[in-house]
Order: sequence, then C-alpha cells, then structure tokens
Amino acid sequence: MIIVREVAQLRKVIAERRQLGVNGEKKVHDSASLLQHKVGFVPTMGYLHEGHASLMQKAREMADTVVLSIFVNPIQFGPTEDLDSYPRDEARDLEVARREGVDIVFLPTVAEMYPQPTQTKIHVSALTDRLCGASRPGHFDGVTTVVAKLFNMVGPDLAFFGMKDAQQVAVLQQMVTDLNMNVTLIPCPIVREADGLALSSRNVYLSAEQRKQALVLSQSLRKVQEVSEDIVQNTVTMEQIRQMVESTIASSPLADIDYIEILTFPGLEPLRPEQRLCDVQDDIIVALAVKFGNTRLIDNIRIQKVEVLSHV
Ligand code: AMP
Repeated sequence: MIIVREVAQLRKVIAERRQLGVNGEKKVHDSASLLQHKVGFVPTMGYLHEGHASLMQKAREMADTVVLSIFVNPIQFGPTEDLDSYPRDEARDLEVARREGVDIVFLPTVAEMYPQPTQTKIHVSALTDRLCGASRPGHFDGVTTVVAKLFNMVGPDLAFFGMKDAQQVAVLQQMVTDLNMNVTLIPCPIVREADGLALSSRNVYLSAEQRKQALVLSQSLRKVQEVSEDIVQNTVTMEQIRQMVESTIASSPLADIDYIEILTFPGLEPLRPEQRLCDVQDDIIVALAVKFGNTRLIDNIRIQKVEVLSHV
C-alpha cells in the first residue's frame, strides 16, 4: 500500500498504476489496455469504520486500483460545527485500509488541498436548499468543491459513496451530470451496528445513554420498512408515515428532531402530506436528522418503487 501526502506524488503513482493491465498483473503499453484499467476512488474524512470498509470492498471488487482519501475538509464545516474535535486516528485508519486491500492512500494536509484562499466553489442549487442543506448552510458547497478537486487529482473511473448520506449522493450525481465529469458514481448501502444504529464517525461523541436512545432512528425507519408493502399498495399516506416515524423518535426524551422528511429520490422533491406512493414516479426516501446533545445523527430509508412493486 502506498501512502502519499502530496498531489504531484498522487498523480505520479496513479499514472504508474494505469500503466499496469487489468488486475495490475502485467505491464501493458497499448492504449486500449490503459483505458481498461479502472481506478476506483473512496473519499472519506477518516476515523474509518465498517461503513467506510464496505465502500473499499465494493471498490476492490469493481476496480483494478483502489484509491482512498482521508481528509477532514474544513470548508464543509460551519463556524459552530465540530471541525476541531472531529475524531482522527491515522494509524488505525491505515490498518483498516491495508486490511481492505487499498492500493493508494491519499492523506493531504489542509495546506496541500488549499494552498491559497480558494476563489472557486462548486454550487449545486435546488438539491442543496433542503434537508441537511437547510440546517447546515454552505455545507454542500464545501462537499462538492472538495470532491471536484479530489476527482481532478485522482481521475477516477468509479467513485464510491454511502447512501447513509443520501442527499450527498443526489447532489454529487447532479454535479457529475451537469459538469460532464468522466466518472461513474456507485451508491453503496448503509452499514449498521448489530442493533441497527447506522455507523458514523460521530457516534463516538454519544454518551452511553444517548447511544441507547439513538436507536429510535433505525427503529422508526424499520417501522417504515415493515409497512412498505402498504405504502406500495397506496393504503398509507406520507403524513401517516411521518407520524409513525415522529412518534417513535419522540419516545426518546433526549432526541431533538431537526427534520423528518419524505422526498423523491434522487430528485429530492418533497411530498405533500396527503400524497401516496401512486402519486409519484420515483423511489422515495424517508430522511431524518436528530440531535442528541451536540451530536447530530442522520439516517434514511429508501423505498424502491420498482423493486418493491415486483415483489407484490
Ligand atoms: P465520511 O468519512 O463520514 O465523510 O464518509 C465517507 C463516506 O463513507 C461517505 O460516502 C459516506 O456516505 C460513507 N459512509 C459513512 N457512514 C456509512 C455507513 N454507515 N454505511 C455506508 N456508508 C457510509
């Protein structure tokens, strides 16, 4: 596994890997083979857990070279957010990366990523004005800008993102489509603890009692899952789903709800309370953000209209 901290070095080692054939087995020089060599990219902020590992595994499965980046991106944090206290553990992260068969780890400093005050930002409009975009102004501009920079540095064929951050997936896909970026995004399923809590680097902030009560998030979404057939058969309205979720979350005295929203995916069009699934063409997601003390947790469930319909 190669560890690099500078952009120039990163470009050099990726170019060398691209000289290798598929699976990195043999040296090839014809342009067709160069094109066949797939670079898979997993961007993260580190403090790696099994959710991140699942992205690396998918990348290992689909790509010849797997590049992991670990960078806590200051421009996606608001002034009162947890940039300084964001958990970091480089040594452990490198162990996880090695275990998952990553080829190249990119660990830039802030100065390497932003050597001068940046005057260029990528802004995806409508998709970012809701959900986490409404609670965290400027957050998605920071995400799209850093991901575009990382794409320019790595030049990946495939990039892997978790559906844990469903809005991020929708926003990044919009950016890639709008700007004709030559990369395919691969959304990957949410990985959960055995008791249902979605894995997140921020879970370490939770006290024992908050951790216990945070289970209401996944429990509320499991209830949605349980009635998904009724949703598909249009016997349930969006308001009924929302109330079911809200009453489950409200059973936790420590939970402070930021939002509970039901939207289409990936268009993120909000649905009206009286609407039923038959009123929309797309899949829907039920998305939540809930604070426990200072820790803001997000979770969601996607109801895939086509897939579920084929089961009923
Ligand atoms: P982060 O380090 O939190 O910025 O996350 C890096 C990537 O890992 C993003 O694409 C996240 O959506 C993804 N990710 C984080 N937690 C999970 C999880 N529990 N399951 C699947 N993917 C995740």
